[in-house]
Amino acid sequence: MSEATERDVLGPVVGAFDAHEPPSRELAADCVHCGFCLTTCPTYVLWGEEADSPRGRIHQIQQGLDGEPLTDSMVTHIDRCLGCMACVTACPSGVRYDRLIEATRAQVERRHPRTAWERALRAAIFALFPYPNRLRLLRGPLRAYRASGLQRLVARTGLLQRLGPTMATLESLTPRLSAVPRPPRRVPARGPRRAVVGMLTGCVQSAFFPDVNSATVRVLAAEGCDVLIPARQGCCGALSVHNGRTEEARRFARALIDTFADTGMDYLVVNAAGCGSSLKEYGDLLADDPAYASRAAEFAARVRDLSEVLVELGPAVPRQRLEVTVAYHDACHLGHAQGVRAQPRQLLRAIPGLRLREIADPEICCGSAGIWNVLNPEPAAQLGDRKAGDVLATGAELLVTANPGCLMQVAAALRRRGATIGLAHTAVVLDASIRGLPAAALTGERT
Ligand code: SF4
Ligand code: SF4
Repeated sequence: MSEATERDVLGPVVGAFDAHEPPSRELAADCVHCGFCLTTCPTYVLWGEEADSPRGRIHQIQQGLDGEPLTDSMVTHIDRCLGCMACVTACPSGVRYDRLIEATRAQVERRHPRTAWERALRAAIFALFPYPNRLRLLRGPLRAYRASGLQRLVARTGLLQRLGPTMATLESLTPRLSAVPRPPRRVPARGPRRAVVGMLTGCVQSAFFPDVNSATVRVLAAEGCDVLIPARQGCCGALSVHNGRTEEARRFARALIDTFADTGMDYLVVNAAGCGSSLKEYGDLLADDPAYASRAAEFAARVRDLSEVLVELGPAVPRQRLEVTVAYHDACHLGHAQGVRAQPRQLLRAIPGLRLREIADPEICCGSAGIWNVLNPEPAAQLGDRKAGDVLATGAELLVTANPGCLMQVAAALRRRGATIGLAHTAVVLDASIRGLPAAALTGERT
């Protein structure tokens, strides 16, 4: 866009930001610089630099609002934020850092020139990750890559490390892929119907963890839900909104609202933390869209994490015994962004024989954070290693969490240590207990 056109469309640039949805001066002014958030911030924990803390980032945003230009240094510190929202949980003044960073990222994405490599990497990520059908096309080649022994050969030669840490990270994150048929469009409740729920199948979840979606459907149906699973669901826009691509996120959001329109669902059930937190914000995302504002708010009010809806309904079917020691990891976008911490623990504790252990420093991100680990492979690996150490220190046989990104990130870190521990989504554990499967069915699926 030429400078004259940019001024006409987006308003004049004052300091770091143009007039199109800049970060709010009032929200930034809520920060009283107390520093209570610092020790929960993963980048401050890693580097100890004020500029890489929540307080430091808010200060830079304020400087940008006061006339400082958008410098490379400011962009670096904004880019380094994982968007984990641990600072929002920690802040006693209720600072809405989530809104500040989203608005700032949208400005950075629109106005800061990236290098050719950064542009190419981002273009590839956003041409692939929000499109479940394109991700599914990768399954065949990835399975062949693993089955052929090529993966072991590549690992021995260190080829991917030589190509770059981003390639090595992408490869290390790839989960084991099992063949699972796609769920049907409607699964009736087993027993008396207690609710009608729509289910988001997700992008990464449906392509790489279809077993989690199958388990989610079985658990919901067993608990008395009619489950509606519309075909051709698109992305919820979480990756886009968390990376400053706000208009793209709005397009995804409108399409998803249309997809679930007229289904008559009581709730929209989500089993991926990052998606759930974005879906709950649709009312804000589309607040200025006259055609969608009220529909988006109504849609968002129906969104529930799987654990929320199961606790709201209460158990209808008995849990069978599962003799297993579990460490539960709070995904940031479930714990910090949605405040859902008690429900998954309540559901796990209700399983006879299951012993629940807490992981030290649960508020610190594992380093996954959407695509942050792909864009920042080295610090992401450090955070992953730290989390893997804390997980192993619990002595658990099984790590349970509710986000595909966390599962891939912690699994990669555990593999680097040569550790073997089972990994499962909360839905898979509940499903195993309801169906009376042995604990070995869970701990057999190892890193
Ligand atoms: S969102 Fe996470 S990484 Fe970003 S400033 Fe807050 S605590 Fe730090
Ligand atoms: S964001 Fe909150 S916790 Fe952090 S320095 Fe500001 S007021 Fe204190």
